[in-house]
Amino acid sequence: MSCIFCRIIAGDIKAEVIAREPGAFAFLDVTPLADGHVLIVPDAHVARIEDLSASDAAALFRAVVALAGPVRDAVGAAGSTIGINNGEATGQTIPHVHVHIVPRWPGDGGGSVHSIFTAKPRRSLPEVGAAIRARIDASKDAP
Ligand code: AMP
Ligand code: ZN
Repeated sequence: MSCIFCRIIAGDIKAEVIAREPGAFAFLDVTPLADGHVLIVPDAHVARIEDLSASDAAALFRAVVALAGPVRDAVGAAGSTIGINNGEATGQTIPHVHVHIVPRWPGDGGGSVHSIFTAKPRRSLPEVGAAIRARIDASKDAP
């Protein structure tokens, strides 16, 4: 088993464990961006969220919902930025889905999700909307 997160779930690699939830596992990020930076991973080893089964996805998001409040309160934060680097091109370094919960405080110097993006979209909303709807329809037709 070469995946570092699978090895953490199995207990082969030490981590600061936060919770073992049905279908998901939470531990502190070893290089925290803020106090209380938690990673939540599905037990299932898949790289991208679109590869998760419906039940694994539900278990993962249920754990995120259950832990967001306790994580925030434990470090006296005002909120949290919750995000997923989904695919190598986004900066994902470990190909096992993981949700970052990063506690936030007013004036902590961090930006919103919007601050990640500097490129300007080129296509119109109707064009992009139609393209996505067509793909959704095609994925429903697929076996
Ligand atoms: P990402 O860039 O979204 O793939 O994030 C991977 C995260 O995993 C980084 O924030 C790392 O600090 C974290 N990480 C890597 N190895 C470990 C580990 N052994 N225990 C806890 N967190 C880790
Ligand atoms: Zn894994």
